[in-house]
Amino acid sequence: MNPLFANTPTSIFASMSTLAVEHDAVNLGQGFPDFGWPDDVVARAADALLHGSNQYAPMLGLPMLREAVALHYSAHQQIDVSPANVTVTSGATEALAAAILALVEPGDEVLLFQPLYDAYLPLVLRAGGIPRFIRLTPPDWRITEEALARAFGPRTRLVIFNNPHNPSARLFDAGELALLADACVRHDAIALTDEVWEHVVFDGRVFVPLARLPGMAERTVKVGSAGKIFSLTGWKVGWIVAPPELAVPISKAHQFVAYATPPNLQTAVGYGLGKDSAYFGTMRRSFAASRDDLTARLSDGGYHLLPAEGTYFLCVDLPASGITLDDAAFCDRIVREFGVAAIPLSPFYAEDPVTSIVRLCFAKKPETIAAGADALIAAR
Ligand code: PMP
Ligand code: GLN
Repeated sequence: MNPLFANTPTSIFASMSTLAVEHDAVNLGQGFPDFGWPDDVVARAADALLHGSNQYAPMLGLPMLREAVALHYSAHQQIDVSPANVTVTSGATEALAAAILALVEPGDEVLLFQPLYDAYLPLVLRAGGIPRFIRLTPPDWRITEEALARAFGPRTRLVIFNNPHNPSARLFDAGELALLADACVRHDAIALTDEVWEHVVFDGRVFVPLARLPGMAERTVKVGSAGKIFSLTGWKVGWIVAPPELAVPISKAHQFVAYATPPNLQTAVGYGLGKDSAYFGTMRRSFAASRDDLTARLSDGGYHLLPAEGTYFLCVDLPASGITLDDAAFCDRIVREFGVAAIPLSPFYAEDPVTSIVRLCFAKKPETIAAGADALIAAR
């Protein structure tokens, strides 16, 4: 048995959702919406299930979806993508696994921003990579030139960069992107950009893919997810966009991890990606309204919150809110005693965890937000 996985704890998202069900709690933990998906996209999938193909899709994905991904990025992010360089995957998680398995050789150094999404580190370690952490510090979670200079070195092969960032809810700005791109180019490193939250940014902010910066298109492996773009997290349809010399080996890994992704869902996602900017603007405003609703209720109830620039998440500063429990103890108490689930930040750290912050998902109906906020206020 491989000790890495034998000794890995169950993902915090799975364990918190299990506790939420056991305690019949309002689930503000795992990031999934209870509103906001497009009914016409779901109808396309239903139609394709009944009238389309239910057999294996092509290994690289349906041509219509690969084309739709390319057109979508050219329309919304001004990057030039050839459909030939798109591989459809079973969610972003599979995309990350295929990319890391294909790109990392034993002994390669892989840079990871901490706090980090939980899938990255086990995959990097299993591929034989040597992790190097770049710490982002609350409350501003900024990328600095000094931190990059400490982390990059002659053995750096890959940088895994999540923007907008889960769990901090930051959208990294132009200056931070420029520093990172410059370091990647100077060290001839590949960037694996986990940009699944690319459409979920607020207050007029504009998402810029790292691939758009000078020298980056040829060294960027971009990961996207229909789960986040259309609030359909259960569908697990994702994709990878990469230059041909990286896309080909990654597709070879993909063929032995998932091989293919349900064709009916691919058809629906391909249709949905054709939606215009007005659609995505409305979606953003509706999530921003939910964020503001939860923020207002919790602030009135004495909670101190960190800014949420993107993603579905809002971070609570426990000590500043007058709470003395650490993040894990607080989350355990509120799900068992007050019927509301949240996610502690400490599992997003491989070393020296921050234990003073918990993450809440606000992509919920007004009544869910009201019930969750009432329970949190009662727990203070
Ligand atoms: N990366 C990040 C940063 C995420 O937040 C998530 C899920 N929320 C994923 C990857 C996984 O996406 P998927 O569900 O498409 O596998
Ligand atoms: N990405 C989601 C979150 O951050 C969870 C995904 C999962 O459960 N694996 O909550």
